[in-house]
Amino acid sequence: MPSSVLEQPVQYLKGVGPQRAKALSELGVRTLRELLLFLPRSYIDRSTSTTLRALARALHQQEQLFHSPLTLGDSERLLYSEVTLIARVERVREHTYGSGRQMLQASISDDSGVGGFLIFWNRLDYYRRLLQPGQLYAIAGRPTLDRRGYVTFHHPELEPVESEDEELYRIGRILPKYRLTQAARTAGLSQARLRRLVAAALEHARAELADPLPEWLQQEFQLLPLPQALEQLHFPDSAEQLARARYRIKFEEMLLFQLLLGLRQRGVQRERGLPLSPKSPHARWLLERLPFQLTRAQRRVLWEIAADLGSGHPMNRLLQGDVGSGKTIVAVLTMLIAIDNGYQAVLMAPTEILAEQHYHTLRRLLEGSDLHVVQLVGGQNPRLRAELLEQIASGAAHIIVGTHALFESSVQYHRVGLLVIDEQHRFGVLQRARLRELARSSLGTNGIAPHVLVMSATPIPRTLSLVLYGDLDLSVLDELPPGRSPVQTKVVFESQLPQVYEFIRQELRAGHQAYIVYPLISPSERIPAKAATEHFEYLQSEVFPEFRCGLLHGELFWYEKEAIMRAFANGEYHVLIATTVIEVGIDVPNATVMLIHNAERFGLAQLHQLRGRVGRGQAQSYCFLVTRDHFRFHWRDGNPQERIAAIVRLRTMEQTTDGFRIAEVDLQLRGPGDLLGTRQSGIPEFRYVNLVTDGELISRARHAAHRLLERDPELRHPEHLALRRLLRERFGADARFLDIA
Ligand code: ADP
Ligand code: MG
Repeated sequence: MPSSVLEQPVQYLKGVGPQRAKALSELGVRTLRELLLFLPRSYIDRSTSTTLRALARALHQQEQLFHSPLTLGDSERLLYSEVTLIARVERVREHTYGSGRQMLQASISDDSGVGGFLIFWNRLDYYRRLLQPGQLYAIAGRPTLDRRGYVTFHHPELEPVESEDEELYRIGRILPKYRLTQAARTAGLSQARLRRLVAAALEHARAELADPLPEWLQQEFQLLPLPQALEQLHFPDSAEQLARARYRIKFEEMLLFQLLLGLRQRGVQRERGLPLSPKSPHARWLLERLPFQLTRAQRRVLWEIAADLGSGHPMNRLLQGDVGSGKTIVAVLTMLIAIDNGYQAVLMAPTEILAEQHYHTLRRLLEGSDLHVVQLVGGQNPRLRAELLEQIASGAAHIIVGTHALFESSVQYHRVGLLVIDEQHRFGVLQRARLRELARSSLGTNGIAPHVLVMSATPIPRTLSLVLYGDLDLSVLDELPPGRSPVQTKVVFESQLPQVYEFIRQELRAGHQAYIVYPLISPSERIPAKAATEHFEYLQSEVFPEFRCGLLHGELFWYEKEAIMRAFANGEYHVLIATTVIEVGIDVPNATVMLIHNAERFGLAQLHQLRGRVGRGQAQSYCFLVTRDHFRFHWRDGNPQERIAAIVRLRTMEQTTDGFRIAEVDLQLRGPGDLLGTRQSGIPEFRYVNLVTDGELISRARHAAHRLLERDPELRHPEHLALRRLLRERFGADARFLDIA
């Protein structure tokens, strides 16, 4: 490439001296290219910003929601849209409280004739300077109503609307808001000044702005060409043009990531794998012993897996399915195929509890066979561990279940042909690639890769799985075993408990069993929630005197827990009073009622798992979610967003038993970072794409990546070289797949 205008330092522009150049470089802007890509963080748009009057009305309606049923759509909208408001500061006042704590309060107003307040507790010096009476501001944040009913923002994001911009705003121009530091402002970089610099840069460099996306792709996916997109992002003509421009930028970001995944997937598909025959005497033996027939979905997925195993290339497949859809048996049958082909199978779980559970399930299923299952977890005593390592190395162990301990260097495997990873959302693409490498080298089979089956423990929204698992083939168990009718779920208030208990007694009299779950083991000073030990006595003697109640919680010894669980499974207890220790894995088909106290305190995934403990047999099952009357539970600081989120969770549980739908709502409530631990999952932080709201864009970008790789599997055509360069820049070492010949 000839040295281009785009690479010129910003000082090249008129009006940028050493001081501004320095301030700009602190914002990551050194060249004209970087200046053009320094995109506004948000926009001030009169047509989409709200008024104090409209806000006040919406917030009063929101208050009503606490007392009446609500539909999900409404609540989500109220919860998740941060609002932007343009208002003038009238007066700034300071209060000092008895404790010496200081508060800054600014009264604001706008043309709608309603007043409101901004409240600040921290960085008061900064806000004292920033808040000037008479000045117009763009205010962004989540408003609440104060006790007197005024719209109030606590620590909103504030951007003064510069006087030269007031007129532009008044005539309806959309104004970009750039991220400006205090240093930048001190150096004289105002919003308007920055816009002028960008305009000059566009002028100089326009001729050189090439689009890295090939022409045919821009057309097929109707993308705004990059030069126009940049122009619109900095100087939007209209909200529609701006939306198209943002779409273009996000699309490129997601396309690059999907190309990375696609290249990796193709790289794996080209590798050599162990060709495994689906003939498996042990699988046949187990199928005959099972008390049930496989569902159609289970059989279909097993066919998909068998095809992978026989292909001569390594399998790399994700198995998704709702709680109770029967993933375990599919994984076990797959392991038996590997074993009958002469290989070891490794099953890795994210926690020791889950490893333990899998270990017992496998032992139970394979009881009476000649297969040997061992468990490898941290903290085992050295003698036992040495013995296990010996069995693994000699091949005496057929299946090895464990946690991360499986990948310690001291473990010598004997021909691992299959790796099953039970995920629980804890690992991501890059980590998984690393695991695979470890497993492969532990194989010692000269470049032949093991088969990998990843199981997701709870459903993941589809668009998210395209990001998290985009390099895997997907199998979905979309059918529950027969005879299960959806659990009927109802939110009930504490004042209704007597009727609910009466209902439970009827179920018990009919021979069924029930769970009653509390959030705490014992009462706590700090947490206003009910505790299992505290209510056990009362329930046993006052509510269920003619039945037997068991008490299960995490502080018991493991053998005590096991004894209680066994007694409940055998029907010796009618009611199991418990904490969330029963969340995972417990399978007592005769239990038909799940009652959860302080249900507002539980997360959606947790509620879904807990409810999954019932509805496992033929009888109709019920789930009661108990909460304070009229949702009058008090959250830590009375945070209204938290309260609404809790109500949305409860209503969602009432409205659906579909784990995928529940996962979608959970994603909306918590955001992807929280749900996945993005940082440790190895997926990048996306600068522009929002994993929650950009689902449709994610699917399209993935489709585009596949179209690209179909045409040009190694991105070698001249028109794709720019993309190739971008991939390298963006992903560095992770893009080494590009170099596989
Ligand atoms: P999950 O997909 O949540 O891991 P499990 O594999 O634990 O589900 O299966 C849930 C329950 O359903 C287990 O008790 C299992 O034995 C049973 N099960 C699995 N497949 C079938 C089937 N085809 N018919 C009846 N019950 C089944
Ligand atoms: Mg499971």
